[in-house]
Amino acid sequence: MDALVSLAKRRGYIFQSSEIYGGMNACWDYGPLGVELKNNLKRLWWQTMTQWRDDIEGLDAAILMHPKVWEASGHVENFTDPLVDCKTCKGRFRADQLDQARCPQKPSKSPGQCGGGLMEPRKFNLMFKTHIGPVEDAGAVCYLRPETAQGIYVNFLNVQAPARQKIPFGIAQIGKAFRNEISPGNFIFRSREFEQMEMQFFVKPGTDMEWFERWRDARIDWHKALGLSADRLRFHPHGPQELAHYAKAAVDIEFKFPFGWQEIEGIHDRTDFDLKRHMEYSGKDLSYFDDAAKERFVPYIIETSVGADRLALTALVNSYAEEEVKPGDKRTVLRLHPTIAPIKAAVFPLVNRDGMPEIAQKIAADLRKRFKIFYDDTGAVGRRYRRMDEAGTPFCVTVDSDTLKDQTVTVRERDSMQQIRVPIAGLADHLEKACAFEAP
Ligand code: ATP
Repeated sequence: MDALVSLAKRRGYIFQSSEIYGGMNACWDYGPLGVELKNNLKRLWWQTMTQWRDDIEGLDAAILMHPKVWEASGHVENFTDPLVDCKTCKGRFRADQLDQARCPQKPSKSPGQCGGGLMEPRKFNLMFKTHIGPVEDAGAVCYLRPETAQGIYVNFLNVQAPARQKIPFGIAQIGKAFRNEISPGNFIFRSREFEQMEMQFFVKPGTDMEWFERWRDARIDWHKALGLSADRLRFHPHGPQELAHYAKAAVDIEFKFPFGWQEIEGIHDRTDFDLKRHMEYSGKDLSYFDDAAKERFVPYIIETSVGADRLALTALVNSYAEEEVKPGDKRTVLRLHPTIAPIKAAVFPLVNRDGMPEIAQKIAADLRKRFKIFYDDTGAVGRRYRRMDEAGTPFCVTVDSDTLKDQTVTVRERDSMQQIRVPIAGLADHLEKACAFEAP
């Protein structure tokens, strides 16, 4: 992890928020490469959900919602973690994660071992509270949403009717969520401000388990198609003790990080809990009339929920490698799937003379209409390759003396380091094909 965090900073992927002021704990800023990676992940997820199927619609709901939403959802009462305080060092820890926590006193030790006893656990609500309008009284309280899902539930009929969708169908949303986590950490794995990509699939009661299994399988296949190693992925089904108050069935997709197996996505059968609670709290009917069967029911919901930041970290961890190319020659490489790689290709003139820079610049300008391209003419070509390996760039295009004769260029592939000749005229199509995502 240390090597990855340092590469992320050095290459402009991710750095701490407000760094010049000492940093803002558990908040992160994405630099030029990081924002491209995260945008590519979001674009791919959005296409998977809303473009490549005709039964899912998109939505972008507001972050600030009516405070009653969070009473109905159960967040005001239940969105808590058990918090324990240390009487001596005043450290605060999650009672259910004490084995992973470290006391802030140095040298590092387990919570409570600094001499102080731990107090009894108490409930700590993770929602960020604020006030809407200029008066800070109880009536003006509102929350930063801790998940995007509720924006989908309250808009269920607003989306269904104009989109003329029939059940089963889904609503997808990408957006920021905020949680005042007690023990954030592991870089961007657990932060206080993060982005979620959530899809809620509305189904007829009785068909929910079938859809739950379908979505569980579809989602793990998607992660594999993205290049996440199959042997670092597994399902973690929730036992009765772990199930959230709203869920009938739940499974986490877990990835093996350097700090252990951890959830990257959750798939939940939320039953009709959410819609029924919003019906009760709002007094509005959110039931659905099935024209064909002439029956009215409150749909069950299957949810798929994955964090964009956590997925970015997963992709980085999965792709990071240090290898010896030949004795004494080491390289660091990010083997990102080309479809999410921040820069798709770098273009180099072999030398800065004989018209090569002009040709290379023209090629780069043409490719830029379709891809994110980086032009580099400084240093030896080997050094330029290494810089691109570290940035995760899948292809390097070099203009050399043969280009002047036959209008072809060298295309060097990042992982195999194989080089082939490609005609300039076919270069964009070649890259398009090589960067394609094979939908599962
Ligand atoms: P945990 O038990 O780890 O706190 P959770 O079960 O509360 O997580 P969900 O509410 O199911 O998580 O959230 C769905 C997804 O949102 C998670 O799988 C994860 O990818 C992402 N996510 C949740 N909390 C955070 C966070 N604090 N930072 C980054 N991503 C998060």
